Amino acid sequence: MAPASVSLQDCRNPPATTVSASTTSAVHRIHVPCLGCGALNRLPVARRHDAPACAKCSAPLLDGRLLALDDRSFGAYASRLELPLLVQLWAPWSGEARNARAGLEALARRLRGDVVVARVNANQGLNLMTGWAVQALPTLLLFDRGRELRRTAEPLGEDALLHWLSGRAR
Ligand SMILES: [Zn+2]
Repeated sequence: MAPASVSLQDCRNPPATTVSASTTSAVHRIHVPCLGCGALNRLPVARRHDAPACAKCSAPLLDGRLLALDDRSFGAYASRLELPLLVQLWAPWSGEARNARAGLEALARRLRGDVVVARVNANQGLNLMTGWAVQALPTLLLFDRGRELRRTAEPLGEDALLHWLSGRAR
């Protein structure tokens, strides 16, 4: 029997519907896809910081690691994730992008469970780069369920980046 916490249903509904009507409890759950096996996990939102694991393959979810996404993996992951997704599109030849890696890793750890941080190597994300019409590398893009909220090509320190993520006016 499949664990009740795994749902393979496609999710393109507004956030309000993440409170499931099919369970007896009123626990608010969020969808988090597994990059390892593709299963869509439904996690109680209050437990998103508790090192959750995929109910199907036991791979860690929301563990604060900087993810690597590409043309193949981005769409299914980003469109089903019910947390903000910060993506850096970068290129190995860009010293600035290489240097930004440690900062992104620290940010990913700091925002664990609240924002997922990922990188897309432009060499493995040519279709994404074209679709996003990115002009400069590196560029940071913030997504909500695959929909771009905003982007910046400015190099930002951690404080400025947190401010930018919050969406408050500068
Ligand atoms: Zn899995």
